Amino acid sequence: MKIVIVGGGAGGLELATYLGNKLGRKGLADVVLIDQNQTHLWKPLLHEVAAGSLDAEVDSLSYRAHAATHGFVFKLGQFGGVDRVNRCIALAAVRDEEGFEVLPQRRESYDQLVIAIGSGCNDFNTPGVAEYAQFLDGPRQAEKFHKQLVNHFIQLNRKLMDEPTRTLSIVIVGGGATGVELSAELFNARQLFTLYGLGRVTQQHLKVTLLEAGPRLVPALAEHVSEAVRAELEKLGADIRLNTHVARAEKNAFVCANGDIVQADMMLWAAGVKVPDIIASIEGIETNRINQILVRPTLQSTTDDTIYAIGDCAGYALGDGRWVPPRAQSAHQMASLAGKNIVRGIRGKPLKDFKYRDHGSLVSLSQYTAIGVLMGNLGKGQSLNVRGWLARMVYISLYRMHQVALHGWFKASLLVVADRINHIVKPRLKLH
Ligand SMILES: Cc1cc2nc3c(=O)[nH]c(=O)nc-3n(C[C@H](O)[C@H](O)[C@H](O)COP(=O)(O)OP(=O)(O)OC[C@H]3O[C@@H](n4cnc5c(N)ncnc54)[C@H](O)[C@@H]3O)c2cc1C
Repeated sequence: MKIVIVGGGAGGLELATYLGNKLGRKGLADVVLIDQNQTHLWKPLLHEVAAGSLDAEVDSLSYRAHAATHGFVFKLGQFGGVDRVNRCIALAAVRDEEGFEVLPQRRESYDQLVIAIGSGCNDFNTPGVAEYAQFLDGPRQAEKFHKQLVNHFIQLNRKLMDEPTRTLSIVIVGGGATGVELSAELFNARQLFTLYGLGRVTQQHLKVTLLEAGPRLVPALAEHVSEAVRAELEKLGADIRLNTHVARAEKNAFVCANGDIVQADMMLWAAGVKVPDIIASIEGIETNRINQILVRPTLQSTTDDTIYAIGDCAGYALGDGRWVPPRAQSAHQMASLAGKNIVRGIRGKPLKDFKYRDHGSLVSLSQYTAIGVLMGNLGKGQSLNVRGWLARMVYISLYRMHQVALHGWFKASLLVVADRINHIVKPRLKLH
């Protein structure tokens, strides 16, 4: 039995670790994980990498090293489609930054395939966005954004000698979790840059503008959370423009449908969610309008028992017109059930059905505060509004649970200690 998992993100890596420990180590199955990157970084940390509050090099996990101790094999490759008849997937050639071919085009056979390639932002084909704006879909993009941010701050600090009213304008499209969390991180980064030698850049020199097409921020969360998030960001100095639809992007500007032109030194698109088009091109697989693979309660695709989909790229209808939301907690829950079902399938036992449990949602506004709602374990339909230190702790615990799923409690506890030490011995901001 050969199990191939494509995508080593929040869901895929947890699944590979589980199956590697459970089956691979005992020689009961070959477990193969394929990812386009060599290292894993938990995606909800990307806005911290972009702002520099987190160093991706320190926090990334090497797939190869992790595979070696957890009973699975890691293969580098970019997923390029599925040949369902011959049960194999296509992998595109891997090239380095200079275009040198590291690995040729290949095929990888499977008995059981799990697709876990996540999602990216959706620019809704808005003209100019792909050309002029940046996205925050992966570690490379986050690091690129961070490098540019550092250079802009250095440049601004120099220019302020002659032009004291000069500003750095960062415009973010999309008032979802990514947009609001990044905005708060940028204000924190400004404070730290000032501390680390760029002293001329003060509060009035950073302009962060958030453009949101809808009537409120973080629309997936309760209305009072949206209001609280908006108030906190405005307190920090953000310019929030709701009901503002971006019609196109130009070099250094977003042009809004109402005719407003919002000038920007840095432009980020953080709106919408869409699964890569390659998924929609898989023959005989049903997808929804954002290319998610439609899955049955067992998390197998609706048309093929040998293909599972988990995480953001899985379309699981909740039955009331809603879908399981594209969140880390969904990917975690799906990885957990898919793992159990694959093992049950091998043992000839009936598969279990997925039951999504919404544990609530939190928005972290850097070191300033966190706001959200916790659900479950409180009685039917009850929820708890949380804010400040408690909310921040719960937010951080989501990442800690991911680390526990990958490393177990002991090593995950050591990582907490290592983080505390790094916090003391390293600068609080990545400065290069
Ligand atoms: C900035 C930001 C903040 C977020 N904050 C939160 C939060 O606070 N709470 C929360 O619940 N969720 C949050 N999310 C959403 C959360 O990150 C995702 O829902 C979650 O990571 C989905 O997990 P996944 O395993 O489906 O995909 P991912 O974690 O995205 O992993 C996909 C993996 O597939 C690989 N891959 C992609 N395409 C290919 C290909 N063609 N070939 C090979 N490999 C490929 C990628 O390299 C990646 O390793 C946030 C997202 C972002 C961007």
